[in-house]
Amino acid sequence: MVKIEYNKEACIGCGACAAQCPDNWEIVEEEGQYKAKLKNKEPAELGCNQDATDSCPVNAIKILKWFFNTTKFVLII
Ligand code: SF4
Repeated sequence: MVKIEYNKEACIGCGACAAQCPDNWEIVEEEGQYKAKLKNKEPAELGCNQDATDSCPVNAIKILKWFFNTTKFVLII
């Protein structure tokens, strides 16, 4: 299971994430500022979201990976 956290306050709207992963990221204008918009916070697969995370100059994107160990979900980073 993959969960993506996005810190909108930290985002400077550079567009790197959308360039690297247009399937799940886009840039939108909000109140005169450009911000990233995450389309799916819990995608079935990581896909290009790792590239989006790696490209972010302000570390506004964090990926959480989980696995089920027979009794509970365990977070791996
Ligand atoms: S790469 Fe980071 S700073 Fe740039 S638009 Fe995406 S989330 Fe915002």
